[in-house]
Amino acid sequence: MTDLHRLSVREMAEGLKSAQFSSRELTQHYLDRIAKIDQQVKSYVTVTAEHALAQADAADTALKSGQATALTGIPLAHKDIFCTQGIKTTAGSKILDNFISPYDATVVVKAKTAGLVTLGKVNMDEFAMGSTSESSYYGATKNPWNLDCVPGGSSGGSAAAVAADLAPFATGTDTGGSIRQPASFCGLTGLKPTYGRVSRFGMIAYASSLDQGGPMARSAEDCAYLMNVMAGHDQKDSTSVQKDADDYVANLNATTVKGLRIGIPKQYFNVAGLDTDVKARVEESLKKLEDMGATLVEIDLNMTDAYVPTYYLIAPAEASSNLQRYDGVRYGYRAENPKDILDLYKRSRSEGFGAEVQRRILIGTYALSAGYYDAYYVKAQKVRRLIQQDFLKAFESVDVIAAPSAPTTAYKIGASLDPVEMYLGDIYTIAVNLAGLPAINTPVGFDANNLPVGLQLIGNYWSESQLLSVVHQYQQATDWHTKRAAIAEENT
Ligand code: GLN
Repeated sequence: MTDLHRLSVREMAEGLKSAQFSSRELTQHYLDRIAKIDQQVKSYVTVTAEHALAQADAADTALKSGQATALTGIPLAHKDIFCTQGIKTTAGSKILDNFISPYDATVVVKAKTAGLVTLGKVNMDEFAMGSTSESSYYGATKNPWNLDCVPGGSSGGSAAAVAADLAPFATGTDTGGSIRQPASFCGLTGLKPTYGRVSRFGMIAYASSLDQGGPMARSAEDCAYLMNVMAGHDQKDSTSVQKDADDYVANLNATTVKGLRIGIPKQYFNVAGLDTDVKARVEESLKKLEDMGATLVEIDLNMTDAYVPTYYLIAPAEASSNLQRYDGVRYGYRAENPKDILDLYKRSRSEGFGAEVQRRILIGTYALSAGYYDAYYVKAQKVRRLIQQDFLKAFESVDVIAAPSAPTTAYKIGASLDPVEMYLGDIYTIAVNLAGLPAINTPVGFDANNLPVGLQLIGNYWSESQLLSVVHQYQQATDWHTKRAAIAEENT
């Protein structure tokens, strides 16, 4: 079969269960596509072909003996931020180029337990800092819709791999938009869960109070399948919530769009730099939801102007602390012939970290330093609380909040060299992380250059089922999520 990659995850699971094809055939099909197409897309940092085929054979045995669970034998790609025992985990950094984790992240353990097959590890901005995937030590990943463009970031490898049909779905992480924005740039569905819903154990830390893993796939339904695997309490993560996860697949039709109150923040649609095509597509999608029975309610989110400065203090502050562990001593890159221990630290870090990571360590260290702590860090924490309260107030009168996922569509590789310009592109995503809320991206059409546009729906705490369900129904009524980039249409 040449078109296995066109099946949905549910169809793949059905095909495996009814023995229309084996997990080995499905896995080999993806490995063949990666071998043929990924030289152009550059989504994978590491392809684990042998390991994948061994997992596929084990899945086939389980399928034959009736031991299979819902997803046994289906392949996936992991963002290279999730630790994988015996397989290199780089976080896109030179400083971890030689790092092989002695243990698996909880998300990776859960994927294995579910019988999923790991195709490999996919590219990302270094330590998840960025919006383009260009800051990776392994080079820029390309957007499957236009190979001259970025796939977004930081989970750009996850997005590009799925959009080019080099994996049916992928894990991602979102500290300030890194699932939703690349999903938007690549025409995918991506869910950032409530903080604490998915375990962070073994997920390399960027900003611990904001980091959250989640699924990226073609549809809400496919995301729901992966979310069923990823979500749940984990004793190994002290911020993991002690609350059962939903059955996100069973709940796909639990919320109806009819009667849904969708908040439209006034401030969001007047942001300087909001592309006219993005605005138009998002407004059309809201009209569609209205036709499906939703009510649009104008709301105020008065703290909008504070999002970027607040996030770009708190995230670097936490990063500067988290990244202290890369000192050239215990693991990772070590500078050659150090004069003394200080020289070892300094050169290992200067040579091992890229420019964007160093910039953030400097900003974060400055913001946390004795003389500036109150003026910057403490103040940012107070503003963070006000941003959260702004959302909670809005949720008193609406069920979900709509926004673009990004002010623009994908831009050219190399176009965003000014960091501040790149930071401003995070305006629609970062407040959600500061508040710890869940949010989802769904494709809603294309701009004049045939690049995907995404709609973001933000929910109240623990509303993942509702968000997936609303997007699922929107996707039943539209076909934007079924559109494929030309490169994904190529056969092996
Ligand atoms: N673009 C944002 C940043 O650079 C978000 C990244 C993320 O979510 N990991 O920090």
